[in-house]
Parts: sequence; structure tokens; C-alpha cells
Amino acid sequence: MKTLLKGGRVIDPANGIDGVHDVLIEGDRIARVGRDLPVDGASVVAIPSGFIVAPGLIDIHVHLREPGQEHKETVATGTAAAVAGGFTAVACMPNTSPVNDNANVTSYILAKAAEANLARVYPIGCVSRGQKGELLADIAELRQAGCVAITDDGHPTATALLLRRALEYAAMFGMPVIEHCEDQTLKGEGVAHEGFYASSLGLRGIPGACEALGVERGVLMAELTGSHFHVAHMSARASLRAVRKAKEAGIKVTCEVAPHHFTLTDEALGSPIPYDTNTKMNPPLREVADRDAMLAGIADGTVDVIATDHAPHHYDEKHVEFDRAPFGIVGLETAVPLAFERLVHAGVINLKRLIELMSTNPARILNVPGGTLGEGAAADVTILAPDMKVHIDVAKLRSRSKNTPFGGWELRGGVAATIVGGRAVYVNPEGKLSL
Ligand SMILES: [Zn+2]
Repeated sequence: MKTLLKGGRVIDPANGIDGVHDVLIEGDRIARVGRDLPVDGASVVAIPSGFIVAPGLIDIHVHLREPGQEHKETVATGTAAAVAGGFTAVACMPNTSPVNDNANVTSYILAKAAEANLARVYPIGCVSRGQKGELLADIAELRQAGCVAITDDGHPTATALLLRRALEYAAMFGMPVIEHCEDQTLKGEGVAHEGFYASSLGLRGIPGACEALGVERGVLMAELTGSHFHVAHMSARASLRAVRKAKEAGIKVTCEVAPHHFTLTDEALGSPIPYDTNTKMNPPLREVADRDAMLAGIADGTVDVIATDHAPHHYDEKHVEFDRAPFGIVGLETAVPLAFERLVHAGVINLKRLIELMSTNPARILNVPGGTLGEGAAADVTILAPDMKVHIDVAKLRSRSKNTPFGGWELRGGVAATIVGGRAVYVNPEGKLSL
């Protein structure tokens, strides 16, 4: 089986390609990228001018909720949402029920992913057994079963000592430790960013320093161990400052920012719907100076990755008082339009940088296949339509959960098609592609 993606702007930062090219897919592999490739029996897919052909997008921070919370999401519904959002691969967080702290759970997730047969799924294992913050999980076992990183996400790693040991062990297997950076004493019972809007709504606050303390601790442990420390869902300007300084000092630190943190601020707590629990996430939506710092970090290269922190919750769980609602929103199906609208069309970054943030760098940081259209690479391809009009229709989301603050938004820039292993797993009828 041969498919020739004809025309379109191919952007593949890993191979220094940015221009109008053809992409030849043979079976499940990329065979060639070049100008005016011969058809030679391949089925031809004409790519409209202006469309982008990119290595498949990879989301390194997703909660698939299976096993144990299948009323929120399953591997099947989560990967359906992923491919509709342009992601050919996702890495899933271990705070399931039971948690992914052993090979049985890892294998279960991988079996479910094979059954769904949509996006690739890379499980992330726990730092500690039972995520209890006491004993290290069996990291060698997790690695052998297929985990690509470790984290106690949902919570920070309990102690500096445990984080140190986690970094030391993970490095032996070439894996990063991903950290939910938070000082829990400072967070207390907080539910929203500490500032004007939380105060005026009578909500308990979480200051940015709460996150930055976790980042600073991690940076010190990364320096001490020489291992790779990755900051999850960064939101505060003090955190960005710490990462920037660490990078300048040559410490192995990387970080990700979620679309809601470069799009919204804490003003959304009060409007358009006051106390909308779809504006409750952890870390919280922060003030303008923090949001602008995230944009600056995305522009100047300090931020490595855009990751969604896709956190599905059932309507009944979110439809309660703000204080009682769980933290988090779904993000897989809104990430690309938000990134186009707020980053590319707003002039913050160019298209090449967008692909770096959403494909090249995620693959590099987790050391997984993908992030490249190099010859012989897996044929994971995302076709993007920068000018496509996108209406976020909550009822049409593939995710089993609908908890998003972006319902009804009109955005410009979308996904035309998603190809995994040479197979079109998502084709947007709006994209008018003959896949
Ligand atoms: Zn987290």
C-alpha cells in the first residue's frame, strides 16, 4: 500500500524541512519526502495549498482514566479524542485506579490501546508505590513493561529525597521524572489563583509561588543528580524564571505549558459564567502577568512543549459548588485551534515553532518514536488547516467528558486529518481531503 501526499507545506523541524513537498508513505512507514515525487502506483491525496503536513502531534500529558474511572474516559474514547485533535500519540498519567505502579497496569493500558487502535499510547508510571509518597515504585519493571517516564502527577513527589532517588533511577533507563510542581502547605485548601478575582468571589487562593517552590526544588535535585527533570503544566511567571535560569546554568530541565494557561486568565472565574467549574484546574488560571510570561516563554524557547493536561470529569462531578468540584478540563480536541489562534495567528510564534512544541520536542523529551518525517520513520502524520474555521461544539467532542470552558468558541485553525502508522484514523470532512 502506497500513499502519496501531494503538495502542501511540509514542516519537519527534526529534518530541517519547511517548504512545498510530497510525502510518500509505504505501508506503515515514511518512504520519502521531496519535490514532485513520481506517483508510481501510489494513491494520490492532493493537499490543498496552505495546508501543513507535519510529523504527528504528540501530547505528553493526558489522563485517560482507565483503569478504574471509565465513566470519565476510557483508552478508547480518549484516543478517539486524541486523533480528532490531531494527536497521533499520547502519554497517559498513572493516577488511575489502581494507579500505574506495576507492570500489570501498564500492560492493561497497552492492551486497551491496541484494541482501540487509534493513537499510540505511551504509559507513564508512578514515582512511588500506590502514589503514597513513601517507597519508590519498581521503576525497572515499569520501564520493561513500556513506561516512558515516571511521575506522581495529581500530587508532587512527596519529599526531596524521594524525588532525588526517582531522578537517579529514572536516569538509568533514560527516562525523565515529570513533576506536578506544588508546595502543598502553601496550597492548603486553595481552589483558584490568589488574586483579585478569587478574592472578589470569596474563593481561597493558590499563589504562583506554590508552583515555583516545586520547580525550584526540582531544579536543585536535577542539578544534584544530573538527571532530567520535566515540569508539568507550568503556569506561574516565577516558575518560568526558575526554568530559564536553570537552562542557562546547563541543568537538564524541560517544561510544558497547557493551552488554557496561555489562553485564559483568572478573570474567567467571574465571567462569562461566575463560578464556572470549567475554569477550575490545578494549577489554576493565573493573572495576566503570568499568562503573558507563558506566551513569552513559548516565543523565546524556554517552554519546550505544549501539552494539554487533558483531565476528563463527568458532568455530575463538575456540576457542584466551585469548592467541591474536581480540578481539570478536557483539552485534546481544543489544543490545535487554541494554539493556532492564540500563538500563530496572534504572531507569538511561527508554524515551525508550533510543530517543534507539539511534535518534535515531545518526542525528544519522552524519547519515543515520532516527531519526524525522516525516511523509515513511522508514518505518523498530522495535516493541519491553518485557516479552517472551527466552532467548539461541546456535544460533538469525542471525549466521554465535556468539561471545557471553550464551548461555543469560534477559532481559526484546525486539524484536517490524522494518520497513524500509514492509516488515516481521523479525517475532518471540513478538510476536503480524499483520504
Ligand atoms: Zn498535575
